[in-house]
Amino acid sequence: MDAGGRYLAPGFIDAHCHDDLICLREPERVEKIMQGVTCLVVGNCSFSLYPTVPGSQDHLREHFSTLLGEIGADEVFESFAAYRGALDRQGMSLNVVSLVGHAALRLAVLGYDQRPATAAERARMQQLLDKQLAEGAVGLSLGLVYPPSAYADSDELQALAKTTGARGKILAAHVRSYEGALIESIDEFLGLLETSKAPGLLSHLQAAGRPNWGKIPKAIAQLEAANARGIDVSFDMYPYLAGSSYMLQLVPPAMHAGGIQALIASLRTGEGLAELRRSIEDPTAPWISKVQMIGWGNVRISGTSNPALKKFEGLDMEKAAAQDGIAPFDFMVRMILEDEGQTTIVMFQLDNADLRAACTHGLHMVGSDGLPRPGTKPHPRAFGTFPRVAGRLRRDEHWFSLEDAVRRMTSMAARRFGLKDRGVIATGMVADLVLFDETIEDRATFDDPAQLPSGIETVWVAGQAVVENSKPTGARPGRVLTN
Ligand SMILES: [Zn+2]
Repeated sequence: MDAGGRYLAPGFIDAHCHDDLICLREPERVEKIMQGVTCLVVGNCSFSLYPTVPGSQDHLREHFSTLLGEIGADEVFESFAAYRGALDRQGMSLNVVSLVGHAALRLAVLGYDQRPATAAERARMQQLLDKQLAEGAVGLSLGLVYPPSAYADSDELQALAKTTGARGKILAAHVRSYEGALIESIDEFLGLLETSKAPGLLSHLQAAGRPNWGKIPKAIAQLEAANARGIDVSFDMYPYLAGSSYMLQLVPPAMHAGGIQALIASLRTGEGLAELRRSIEDPTAPWISKVQMIGWGNVRISGTSNPALKKFEGLDMEKAAAQDGIAPFDFMVRMILEDEGQTTIVMFQLDNADLRAACTHGLHMVGSDGLPRPGTKPHPRAFGTFPRVAGRLRRDEHWFSLEDAVRRMTSMAARRFGLKDRGVIATGMVADLVLFDETIEDRATFDDPAQLPSGIETVWVAGQAVVENSKPTGARPGRVLTN
């Protein structure tokens, strides 16, 4: 075909996203293919929709719903093979690779208990993990700020890392702190990689909160030094100054013991409420909430499940609370109770020099970290990450050359996840491709996030067009890839 002066690149790989559930519900993944994305990496930050054992399904559904809203009984799976089967049976526009979420393993063996695993429980988690990896899951993901992953002790993390490394699979980690203890948290992760020999991917490298700005060059130096002594580690990051998570991230992990219903019950007591207030308002509390560092005005409500709370989506906590005539803290408690923990937030918390240092470093690859939740006001990264890198940041801000931008969105991730026939254009490779022009641009904003980008003409998955003339074709040539 005549590409008419446009650029042809390997299809973009979203090295970090949370599209696990939406791939089942909206297999055409329009906002992803319209960005030129041909492969998604799901199962991040300890969240995956498998494995379950008899009795753990409801725990996993409840857990996952706090991140992405209500989950159906048929939307959690016994194993990677079952999840893969469900996706492949219905077909998808693009490809998916999946990490095993630590939370699912822990919920299967310990439920929502806040305690170290016994030796027998560790062995069961290892066995369960090994089965998923043998079936084709590409690695394990930790989410060390998110209970129940946060409840694991070092023995448990080392045991699971060892199982992962023994299969040559990836260990990905949302580390324990991206704030004051960032450097120590990276050390903890590097220690797991060193003993297990698993290749590592540090999730969304950032330093959150003004007191921590400027730490990224030090963190990068730490990762470079680790590589120099033989630890194989790289990182992903999205190109925005705000992050996004669930509102429960503002609540101390210890208060999540027993799951969301236990938290709700405790907040209905004076004691629980006082404990939460202390962690949010007392700067000498043992666990410091993010709110203390970034302020309520920098926390924006992005998604809710309860229709009565929908009107607050898009507002920051100060404005939303003022509408309700109460203080932001009381408003947060109201949201947790009335939305049963299913509220997502956007947090404006990063520094541009840090972001640039991370996103232009040689160990960086692009991951959107998008939290797809149709009908809400999500972080724009779900709709704009890849065109933002290829357009604005490359062309207008000169962060990198076009070739370097493409490498961060393609071959870096393909290599990390062991996808041998993707990520570059060469004879023998599968034809996952994107054709775009110099005007490529993200159009999603924080106020109007569900906007598709422009400048992307055609996208092929396995040689079949899934986008043509900048419109989805409805084709579903994608499948679940294994390594
Ligand atoms: Zn994360």
